[in-house]
Amino acid sequence: MRPTWADIDIGAVERNVARLRAHVAPAEVCAVVKADGYGHGAVAVARAARRAGAALLAVALVEEGVELRDAGIDGPILLLSQPSAAAMDDARAANLTLTLYTPDGVAAASKVARDGREPWAVHVKVDTGMHRVGCSAEELRQMVELVDAEPSLRLEGVWTHCAVADELTDPFTETQFDRYDAAIDTAGLGARPGLVRHAGNSAVGLAHPRGRLDLVRFGIAVYGIAPSRELAGAVDLDPVMTLRSAVSHVHTVEPGAGVSYGLRWRAAAPTRVAVVPIGYADGVRRDLSLRGGEVLVHGVRRPMVGVVTMDQLMIDCGDLPVAVGDEVVLLGAQGGERITADEVAERLDTIPYEVVCAIGARVPRRIVEP
Ligand SMILES: *Cc1c(COP(=O)(O)O)cnc(C)c1O
Repeated sequence: MRPTWADIDIGAVERNVARLRAHVAPAEVCAVVKADGYGHGAVAVARAARRAGAALLAVALVEEGVELRDAGIDGPILLLSQPSAAAMDDARAANLTLTLYTPDGVAAASKVARDGREPWAVHVKVDTGMHRVGCSAEELRQMVELVDAEPSLRLEGVWTHCAVADELTDPFTETQFDRYDAAIDTAGLGARPGLVRHAGNSAVGLAHPRGRLDLVRFGIAVYGIAPSRELAGAVDLDPVMTLRSAVSHVHTVEPGAGVSYGLRWRAAAPTRVAVVPIGYADGVRRDLSLRGGEVLVHGVRRPMVGVVTMDQLMIDCGDLPVAVGDEVVLLGAQGGERITADEVAERLDTIPYEVVCAIGARVPRRIVEP
């Protein structure tokens, strides 16, 4: 087998969830494990988050919730978007907690929920300014009336989502909280007993106490990554993923000789170039090498050279005595050095979420239990 895999540190997930719980208490923690746990493996992360006291899990898709149920995970799993009418049966069969935001969604859910089982738990999502999904503040009252009028449904929560919570000085987050509070009042929910209110992702949970309400939906922080540079250090978090490979080939390149497609890097002096069997088909972006991308080998940083190819990339090892089989770390720590998802994101002009989610299915995840 190719010596390329991602170690998933389950102890780190448990510690992160425990610290996040302590940070937002008495609000509860919802662990967001959509997109295969942000590329870390949803089932293992979900189990660890539950053990560490996450009250709720959340996924984006019905099929993601079904995967968790098939793995034997019980307890509440919240869908973060409204399923299509065609997906309602599967959502009900897996007992996923619904998010709804249209009257059609309520109708489709009620049809499926009239099955003699317990009423189906529903959260209504209200849009307070992000303009992705959700009913408007004015529509919330009607949504609540429709759900309340349907005995097969039970209104459990009302939530919203913030657009700029990771930018601490942007006043729009407060505006969204104001709109959320007003929507709750207008819908007559101000004093509804047991209603679960939630308005926040990791950035809100870390840095906006007003938005913690009853529950915080933590995604990226569970994986030990801060939502933005500004929020790094708000809570001590341990990175969960270490992306590893091993040198598969070493050769000496003479001065002036080019490396990889396009020969876009040329050796200035004789140097040892090592090949690492991981490429853009695994989620290492093709131009990372052209934007200063580095790896760790023998405990030091070495630059990627030439463009990243589909299955392999090259590193300039200088005069390090690198040999076939030597460990290479692309994300994570080796010796005293560490490459963070944040660092890679900065080079690629993106956010660390995209860096970890991009690690493809061809890279096995090795679950490292504490
Ligand atoms: C993905 C997602 C989250 C988690 O966001 P993070 O920034 O990763 O904490 C929370 N809520 C909703 C609606 C989401 O889609």
